[in-house]
Amino acid sequence: IGSSCASLNSEEFLKDLKKEVSNNNLEKRCKVKGVGCNGLCSEAIMVSHYHKKGNRESFYSKVSSLDTAKFIETLNSDTPIEEKKCDVSQPFFTRQKKIVLENAGVIDPDDIDDYIAYDGYLALYTALDEMTPQDVLNEISTSGLRGRGGGGYPTGLKWEAVSKVEAEQKYIVCNGDEGDPGAFMDRAIMEADPHKIIEGMALAGYACGATKGYIYVRAEYPIAVQKLNKAIKQARLKGILGNQIADSGFSFDVEVRLGGGAFVCGEATALIASIEGNRGNPRQKPPHLSDYGLWKFPTVLNNVETFANIAPIIRNGGKWFKNIGTENSSGTKVFALSGHIKNTGLVEVPMGITLRELIFDIGGGLSNNAKLKAIQTGGPSGGCIPEELLDIPVDYESLKSIGSIMGSGGLIVMDESSNMVEVARFFMDFCQSESCGRCVPCRVGTVELTALLDKFVKKEASKSDFELLKQLCEVVKNSSLCGLGQTAPNPVLSTIKYFENEYLEGIKDA
Ligand code: SF4
Repeated sequence: IGSSCASLNSEEFLKDLKKEVSNNNLEKRCKVKGVGCNGLCSEAIMVSHYHKKGNRESFYSKVSSLDTAKFIETLNSDTPIEEKKCDVSQPFFTRQKKIVLENAGVIDPDDIDDYIAYDGYLALYTALDEMTPQDVLNEISTSGLRGRGGGGYPTGLKWEAVSKVEAEQKYIVCNGDEGDPGAFMDRAIMEADPHKIIEGMALAGYACGATKGYIYVRAEYPIAVQKLNKAIKQARLKGILGNQIADSGFSFDVEVRLGGGAFVCGEATALIASIEGNRGNPRQKPPHLSDYGLWKFPTVLNNVETFANIAPIIRNGGKWFKNIGTENSSGTKVFALSGHIKNTGLVEVPMGITLRELIFDIGGGLSNNAKLKAIQTGGPSGGCIPEELLDIPVDYESLKSIGSIMGSGGLIVMDESSNMVEVARFFMDFCQSESCGRCVPCRVGTVELTALLDKFVKKEASKSDFELLKQLCEVVKNSSLCGLGQTAPNPVLSTIKYFENEYLEGIKDA
């Protein structure tokens, strides 16, 4: 019932299936529930059939309302629907490691009891019963968790800074303003497992001494907004949010705030300004949010995926998390695979896996067996990586060393038909239209860079345009105020580095 399946009328299928189960008096033997995204969007709509007898599971793909009769038949006969069966032994399923997505495709996001049945809120209650706020901070620091929004800043350090500040009020803010082209990780997490984000925020509140949280979600994510609001309502009714939890002395509450879709509002200070009701303009740092955040109070701001890691860390311990992934990048990362790849969708892999394994094993390789040209990570702030570098491990430092970034997890695969100058132009055009216009290098520089890239695409550029392009990239990168401008030249610089010949082909007097 996530966005991808919803676009294929999954709600209607769910309704029809429930109706057929009821018409055939199977309700006592069979429970039908809608779940969030299980990742393999290219095979949607998918159905998992858990057989109580023998604990078996059958997995079906590309189903529709036309198949409801077949499901009734399989319930009566216990014979699988062969033509709809999905092979769960394929690397897409077996090579993943799910921590953030452990409940996605398993629990009903509309049902708090289903979340609780899968150890939901266990971490929060364990922390309140058995741990001090400092114990929680220690576990997060030990885990080595780094912010999954792109920057990779250590979460433990960020929380420690806020916990140390004396203030009458502190805030926990969740950034759900995912705006990169090709990124849909946070949307899927919010749609599939909203309580996990709330639990992570409440644990952050307990650790840092904050009593109030806000989830900032773009309004273009209506299913995520609806799931979050419903989850908050249910958590309040259960006494988890809004009032003191049991006799712990700790209370926490969360509200959802809608963003209007400006990409720059994903930047921390712009997001804070937007929640406060002001225009989402970034401001200079320092002061940092740990001292001067929402309504001038100390604030922890992490993204959706970061908060979704918190409850599993508290349940299993920081050392458990630290042992997954690599020395400096522990845990897993969720990626949204899109472009010319067979298995488009959402995957979660341990840090340190190579890009080649990610694309060719888990992603199934390129669609139509085309030849790979490049992959783009990190959205408009990231870079394009050529085929010969696919054996590098996926971690923060390795991706940076080759001119790209981890980013929030959008991963676009491009085959040989892709023109890399056009790709760079697409991202630059995106940045110039999303620039808030506050500082000159970004406001003017991105427009000039788009115009220059246009010349290369039309094969009307001169040799001096090439030099100007490179110089202007450096100026915009080094003198813009916020991350949007500072990283906007990255796709241009990485394509010049690895695909320079395509720029040279755009020079008319070359
Ligand atoms: Fe605005 Fe761009 Fe300057 Fe950031 S770098 S403040 S988006 S004009």
